Amino acid sequence: MKVVKFGGSSLASGKQVEKVFNIVTTDPTRKVVVVSAPGKRFPEDIKVTDLLIECADLVLRGRDPKEQVEAVIARYQAIAEELALPSQIIMEIRQDLSDRLNSDQRKPDRFIDLLKASGEDNNAKLVASYFQSRGVEAYYVNPKEAGLLVSAEPGNAQALPESYELLYSLHSRPGILIFPGFFGFSKEGDVYTFSRSGSDITGSILANALKADLYENFTDVDAVYSVNPFIIERPKEIRELTYREMRELSYAGFSVLHDEALVPAFRAGIPVHIKNTNNPQAEGTRIMTERDNTNGPVIGIASDEGFCSIYVSKYLMNREIGFGRKLLGILEDYGISYEHTPSGIDDMSVILRENQLDEQTEKAIINRIKTELHADEVKIEHGLALIMVVGEGMRRNVGTMARASKALAKAKVNIEMINQGSSEVSMMFGVKEYDEKKAVQALYDEFFAAVTV
Ligand code: ASP
Repeated sequence: MKVVKFGGSSLASGKQVEKVFNIVTTDPTRKVVVVSAPGKRFPEDIKVTDLLIECADLVLRGRDPKEQVEAVIARYQAIAEELALPSQIIMEIRQDLSDRLNSDQRKPDRFIDLLKASGEDNNAKLVASYFQSRGVEAYYVNPKEAGLLVSAEPGNAQALPESYELLYSLHSRPGILIFPGFFGFSKEGDVYTFSRSGSDITGSILANALKADLYENFTDVDAVYSVNPFIIERPKEIRELTYREMRELSYAGFSVLHDEALVPAFRAGIPVHIKNTNNPQAEGTRIMTERDNTNGPVIGIASDEGFCSIYVSKYLMNREIGFGRKLLGILEDYGISYEHTPSGIDDMSVILRENQLDEQTEKAIINRIKTELHADEVKIEHGLALIMVVGEGMRRNVGTMARASKALAKAKVNIEMINQGSSEVSMMFGVKEYDEKKAVQALYDEFFAAVTV
């Protein structure tokens, strides 16, 4: 039995929904279908989810969201017309949106989630009605009835442990089950969404709960690439990846799969298969516990910008018990999360995403580190990019770091920071943002130019 998830671009038009129908119905083991809201049809297009967020914002500011509501309905209408569906379904969607817009707004974040979730909910209803119109036994599944319980965290819900047992009962339902992605219900019965792109998470939860043999994730690329195709033209495709490798890559900017989505599948040991809705014949990429290690030490290179580093220096820091905890405690007080903490005898750096700091917070943090920790020097360096060089093969191959740093030196990229050792399957390089592309190119040439992945 397979759980199959289709992303927004796979459901952006009637033609796309027809492709989804063909993919699902050619394989009788594709039993549970998780759908996103309609996504972009072309690069400048607006995702239904973004339109819904705009609607909610306008309402909360006391403005009329009519234009945005009509834009949302127009998206579903275009799909329904292309698929020759009866107009009843659009009337239902209109009614559903109007009910949500008129609901309780006392908790703004919860109101936004309720609106956001309608994108997938109404799309699941529309897709189910299309499958039925083609004579296939298919049903929309209401996540509340099915038991997808989540924490009451707006825009960042987490599945509650009891969901898994409750969802197992979906097995006894007949036909193809069309399940809306992206949201669940709190114990109090309110809608809460996962973080953005969270339909991937729904698919993974269902794969785990239903003990599926495979979780197929259909998107709009033939495979996971070894490097960002916006940096390197037509990079090598990855056939097989381990969960750990995928996690490391998606964390640093590989956006093919939501990085939280791997966890439920990983826990149940269910392989994930990334495939292309627009080219289902392509082999895709398989993510699993272990893989053959026939290629070189590196499977992929990911990079992301927008980081900064807080550098703290204090003579005899190594002898001071609790220094690291106190430093991180200050960041915790401001609700700031960090990515890496490379440290030396008398120095420690904390790398974090710089969008978490405004000028005032930055000043306050530096001040507290200076006064409370009596640091000799504290400085913040902005504009850093992190590059992750990832591969299980690294453990067995000698000299991978030497090859990487030599390649960067040859390209005249100054390495601001290195973190190696804490993870067995990755090396992290911090470089200036303006050097990011050059660095990725140099590393790609070094590890992939002559290797078949
Ligand atoms: N539609 C939601 C988003 O745009 C969730 C998803 O597509 O997975 O974030």
